[in-house]
Amino acid sequence: MEETNIVNEKPSLNFLEEIIENDLNNGIHKSIITRFPPEPNGYLHIGHAKSICLNFGLGKKYNGRTNLRFDDTNPVKEDVEYVDSIKEDIKWLGFNWAEEHYASDYFEQLYLWACELIKKGLAYVDDQTQDEIKLNRGTVQTPGKNSPYRDRTPEENLRIFQEMRDGKYADGEKILRAKIDMAHTNMHMRDPILYRILHTEHHRTGNKWCIYPMYDYAHGQSDSIENITHSICTLEFDVHRPLYDWFIQQLGIFPSHQYEFARLNLSYTVMSKRKLLQLVQEGHVSSWDDPRMPTICGFRRRGYTPEAIRNFCDSIGVAKRDNFIDVGRLEFSLREDLNKRANRVMAVLDPIKLVIDNYPEGQTEELEAINNPEDENAGTRKLTFSNTLYIERDDFMENPPKKYFRLSLGNEVRLRYAYFITCTSVEKDSQGNITTIHCTYDAASRGGNSPDGRKVKGTIHWVDANNHINAEVRLFDRLFISETPEKTEDGKTFLDNINPDSMKILKNCKCEPSLKNVKHLDKFQFERLGYFSVDYDSKEGAVVFNRACTLKDSWKKD
Ligand code: ATP
Ligand code: MG
Repeated sequence: MEETNIVNEKPSLNFLEEIIENDLNNGIHKSIITRFPPEPNGYLHIGHAKSICLNFGLGKKYNGRTNLRFDDTNPVKEDVEYVDSIKEDIKWLGFNWAEEHYASDYFEQLYLWACELIKKGLAYVDDQTQDEIKLNRGTVQTPGKNSPYRDRTPEENLRIFQEMRDGKYADGEKILRAKIDMAHTNMHMRDPILYRILHTEHHRTGNKWCIYPMYDYAHGQSDSIENITHSICTLEFDVHRPLYDWFIQQLGIFPSHQYEFARLNLSYTVMSKRKLLQLVQEGHVSSWDDPRMPTICGFRRRGYTPEAIRNFCDSIGVAKRDNFIDVGRLEFSLREDLNKRANRVMAVLDPIKLVIDNYPEGQTEELEAINNPEDENAGTRKLTFSNTLYIERDDFMENPPKKYFRLSLGNEVRLRYAYFITCTSVEKDSQGNITTIHCTYDAASRGGNSPDGRKVKGTIHWVDANNHINAEVRLFDRLFISETPEKTEDGKTFLDNINPDSMKILKNCKCEPSLKNVKHLDKFQFERLGYFSVDYDSKEGAVVFNRACTLKDSWKKD
């Protein structure tokens, strides 16, 4: 994929914008209300970010509003920890919700509406077991069978439903179903379940309820209560839409409409919350915010900016058919953003000592360095220089191949912002490893400028060994080796596609002293090495950096 296409894409309306403009122009709605409806059963991932940018973006673009609604109808897997993290992540992405709601706040209203459906003969209590219900649903080819309890009178249904609420029955003993059509071509319309009994404490309603509404019953009605005009969800819900509409019609309530778009899938990434939870629980990653995780908090910790994520979400558009997006596009977005805002600094990840034999021992001088060539307001800083430096081990080769323009015996290179140096000799330990590189410098090349038009092909970065800080640096690679980690052969799982080398920890890195007082999540470009962000593990005197991304896409196929 040509990266430049992303930037130059002509803005045209996506299909949701077309629908909304049509609704507004034709007076179907005066203004729009959208919502983002997470289930608080995990941390948000980049797919959710797409949905957030879409819903909040549409609300903003059309001067409408966007609500945050927690779809908290399943007390078994939900938790306040997730509620808090979801709110933090949405705010961090840069969005503010108009109203904060919880489906659980609507439990009483949903219960009353269920009673209304019962009274209208449109819902009944079924005593069949889960297995019987499943069996009697039939298949796509064959119609289902009516439940023997289908013709209970509204009075009897009301009484038992009340008893279900009062806790008279055990989990699974009875359920409430809509009475629609057991032969319907859409399986979701074959008397779908509205309520099940669950004697489980809910993170908000405590032990007030022991019956809980199903997603399909709760979702549309919650939209309707909030006057949501455009209820946007992912494609797999299109088969649920007839049911969504059926409830609203039968109850005669505000007609919210559901629209579906293709969920975001990223290469080399898994996105299901269940699988992400498994990665955390089984210790394949350290936490939900492990910098290798595709969670919003993981990206944040890795060094992503909200702008990079938002630009990515906007650039990929809104699809109507499922597709895979190259994870390289997300990295491209980050690089583009950090290039503008991250100050350049020098750091050496794999240091080797370099001594300049003709530079006076004990002398030190200050050299000027540009903070960010992309931002003229970023200014300059002073670097100290002395006779002992660190350079990157792989910037020197004893037996260089042709076209190796970095340092080698007898070869001259430029030290960034400093001087031209020429390598004269190396020192080795008893095993033959190089321990020190000896050079001479040309005092006339101060600032890295050629004194006499003499050209050097290589410029390398360095850190003053007499004035530096030590740091730990964590390098990341993709968490999965497969482009589609969930596609596996028989007997294998996505876990078999984990990249065993997805993290490398370097403990002996040397950085220029300007990095001494950094704060968590401060971001820098380490010259020639990539973009780095200060990790939460960083403490005063023990700085830890995460590499957010390299300077170029190292995975790109030429
Ligand atoms: P998962 O499949 O990861 O468990 P989910 O759909 O169950 O996700 P919810 O909390 O119900 O998670 O999702 C909240 C909203 O985010 C829903 O509207 C859902 O459609 C949307 N969403 C979830 N995953 C994606 C995705 N990959 N791309 C776009 N939108 C998504
Ligand atoms: Mg869901």
